[in-house]
Amino acid sequence: MADKPDVKSTLNLPRTSFAMKASLSQREPELLRTWEEGRLYERILAKRAADGRPPFILHDGPPYANGHIHMGTALNKVLKDFIVKSRSMRGHFAPYVPGWDCHGLPIEIHVDRQLGEKKAAMPVTAVREECRKYAQRFIGIQRDEFRRLGVLGAWDAPYLTMHPAYEAKVLEYLGAFFERGEVYKGKRPVHWCISCRTALAEAEIEYRDKTSPSIYVRFPVVSDLGAKFPALAGRRAFVLIWTTTPWTLPANMAIAFHPEHEYVAAEVGGDVYILARRLLPVVAEELGWPAPAVLAAFAGRELEGLKARHPFIDRDSLFVLGDYVTLEDGTGAVHTAPGHGHDDYLTGAAYGIDIYTPVDDDGRFTPEVPRYAGLQVFEANPRITADMTADGTLLKETEIAHSYPHCWRCKKPVIFRATEQWFISLDRSGLRGRAREAIAGVSWIPSWGRDRIDGMVAGRPDWCISRQRTWGVPIPAFKCRACGAPLADAGVCRHVASVFAAEGSDAWFVRDAAALVPEGTACAACGGREFDKEFNILDVWFESGASQNVLEREAGHLWPSDVYIEGHDQHRGWFNSSLLIGVGAKGGSPYRTCITHGFILDEQGRAMSKSLGNVIDPAEVIRRSGAEIVRLWAAMLNYKEDARFGKEIEQRLVEAYRKLRNTWRFLLGNVSDFDPGRDMVAEPDLLDLDRWVLYRHEEVRRRVVQAYESYEFHPVLHAVLDLFTVDLSAFYLDVVKDRAYCSAKGSRLRRSAQTAMFIILRDSLLLMAPILSFTAEEAWAHVPAYDGKEDSVHLGEFPGGRDWLAGRGRPFIERMRRLVAVRDKVLKELEKAREAKLIGNSLEARVTLRAPADDLAFLEENKSELPALFIVSAVSVEQGPGPDLGIAVGRAEGEKCERCWNYTADVGRDPARPTFCVRCAEAVKGEGA
Ligand SMILES: [Zn+2]
Ligand SMILES: [Zn+2]
Ligand SMILES: [Zn+2]
Repeated sequence: MADKPDVKSTLNLPRTSFAMKASLSQREPELLRTWEEGRLYERILAKRAADGRPPFILHDGPPYANGHIHMGTALNKVLKDFIVKSRSMRGHFAPYVPGWDCHGLPIEIHVDRQLGEKKAAMPVTAVREECRKYAQRFIGIQRDEFRRLGVLGAWDAPYLTMHPAYEAKVLEYLGAFFERGEVYKGKRPVHWCISCRTALAEAEIEYRDKTSPSIYVRFPVVSDLGAKFPALAGRRAFVLIWTTTPWTLPANMAIAFHPEHEYVAAEVGGDVYILARRLLPVVAEELGWPAPAVLAAFAGRELEGLKARHPFIDRDSLFVLGDYVTLEDGTGAVHTAPGHGHDDYLTGAAYGIDIYTPVDDDGRFTPEVPRYAGLQVFEANPRITADMTADGTLLKETEIAHSYPHCWRCKKPVIFRATEQWFISLDRSGLRGRAREAIAGVSWIPSWGRDRIDGMVAGRPDWCISRQRTWGVPIPAFKCRACGAPLADAGVCRHVASVFAAEGSDAWFVRDAAALVPEGTACAACGGREFDKEFNILDVWFESGASQNVLEREAGHLWPSDVYIEGHDQHRGWFNSSLLIGVGAKGGSPYRTCITHGFILDEQGRAMSKSLGNVIDPAEVIRRSGAEIVRLWAAMLNYKEDARFGKEIEQRLVEAYRKLRNTWRFLLGNVSDFDPGRDMVAEPDLLDLDRWVLYRHEEVRRRVVQAYESYEFHPVLHAVLDLFTVDLSAFYLDVVKDRAYCSAKGSRLRRSAQTAMFIILRDSLLLMAPILSFTAEEAWAHVPAYDGKEDSVHLGEFPGGRDWLAGRGRPFIERMRRLVAVRDKVLKELEKAREAKLIGNSLEARVTLRAPADDLAFLEENKSELPALFIVSAVSVEQGPGPDLGIAVGRAEGEKCERCWNYTADVGRDPARPTFCVRCAEAVKGEGA
């Protein structure tokens, strides 16, 4: 088209101040400021509330208030933002109240380290104050980082697990469990971290490889075996056990056999050893026994009640039965220490054996075991094995590498140790069954989540809810000063909750017991009226699982929520504790839908870790490319699986972003003089090509809205990118250029195209606003004003469907489809002509179509539109000889119009414009076509 400036100025070339260069890292902070100063989030909610919109509640899982955000937390928050914004624009009242998990061990350990020796001299409340400050500091840091991603929400009023109102609700929920008699205190083995000095929940355990000693130890039988098995009369007999935890031997109280399996008495070097028949060959090989003779065989149950002597302690070890005894490894005779193992505990309880635990909080032997008193258990291992080797009790020692529980926090191996703890029973009042029923009623995305969490709830032991730390919500339990009987129940919980609501949980450490128990409380056992406080805090998973209390406390919220979405490790963590608390305290699941997303890997598919040096800081990506690129990434991946990120991926995202931005820019440029109120062309007057592109757009709109509805974001992006690249850039916008640039400004030809471009522009910005929140907002400011246009794209709603596209007008779709198919063939021929230097610009061409009889009439009918569709100067149609369409390309006849570069026979017919074709001459007169 025209290149002389004065002629060029007569064209309607695109004009827009929407910049080609994104400069996201500068522009985004400006937009954030505008949103915050204009209180955009609050305005959106107020508008939806005023319009009486139904609520949609996504409840935020609270990140831990420690450290900076990383790609995983960034992904999580951005996905939440997609959901909340898309539901809001779909016409819901969709608040988003972010929260933080503030209590717990990681912060307490940091503060301990900071305070060092000072801590001992400080009152508990002063230490807790330091913890509070620490949490507060990281809440500030993370809040800024999350905000920077463009996530809209109640950032000025988040929920914090350390808020007094929150703490009070936690105790009220605990009260509900007391009410049903599900809370009990028991001495039971729990995972115990000796370096953190606390009990740990299942969710706080990580399994890692560890090397442990592997030892065979013999226990001399003291019962008279000959009375039962005559073949053994008068023989010296031993039971052989195998263990990887020598330090638990001082606590050995029993040896377990499987009641059904067959055991043998095997003769080795004159002595007799009792072990499982199936394991005899393995053990014989291991211990170098030459072909042991079997003197007797019997079922395990025949051994019940017999006794052996402990190998180095003055005590007998009882033979007991256990169904859990396997023949996978060891000897089939299982060393049993009820204070140090789950099955051991159950067996001990069943046989009335003492739950003996001679190990203290630091993991050191107590004076009850004089030989090893003061030694830490892992240090004691070599001493114990050396002693047993010396006295001939230990038959073989090697090492074994196995998967062993470690502390999630300090990464050290944990031990199993029986302590007095508070538990929530899963079975006393059917909590487990009710929880599994609730699981069945939840929609799990992806669907395997259901089996996973159901399996975890089905198999989990009772919930150990007490921790021996101070940075948390105290368990409101007392002891009678007179008789020592415990005092803890629903009434006490609720009373202390009311104190916490007013004063925060520091009250537990500030007030006397007398000022914390409900007035008039007497000990149920002895009638005593004086009590002492206990000092246990609640498991932080109970606290964060209680976050659903926010749904009760926030205006406009409802319990249960519509959706929870977190990483797939939360089936064991937050989803699990939230569900149990919901079922226990509120009667059901706190979420209707539960979605999990994957973890973040590097471009090679490796987990990001400090030691690999492949960790990507979202702040760095934002500085380099903008938060929009992080958002685009989150939308592009299949978040249900583990997701990769790296430099190459970032570069591809930047390119995709450019495509979207440039298309919006082109559309904006073409509607700069379009006043929708005045210039919009009514549907019956639209040109078919414009009608067709709106039809394609409608298909995309439907797909997008449906995808958002089902929490899918990559189909949104792909549908829009497809429309922009295939339908718009490579076809429609190319074809429509001549009409938009060269027709008279106000002509129907031009307004029809502008109508289509305006609708696509406006609707695509609305549809993409939940994902590309910054760019949609930036472009929105350049969209021509119209009646009802919101000043922020985020106040808008998704466009509705256009019935006329679905209803009538199907013939134009078929017509366009046929024309586009012809066009594709013509473009190929034009390309050949260009390569043969027959033509340069396609407007220098004329095309002759030699149509088979079937197509002839159709092409004749549409002849007038073909030049524009092919972007050539002339098209003629004649009947061809064969069944295929023949295409001939020649040089256009006539003269080239200086303005539109079309070749026509009428150039110069208007003496006022000797170098223009008639159309152009008339267009500049403003007469229109
Ligand atoms: Zn630890
Ligand atoms: Zn009492
Ligand atoms: Zn012209």
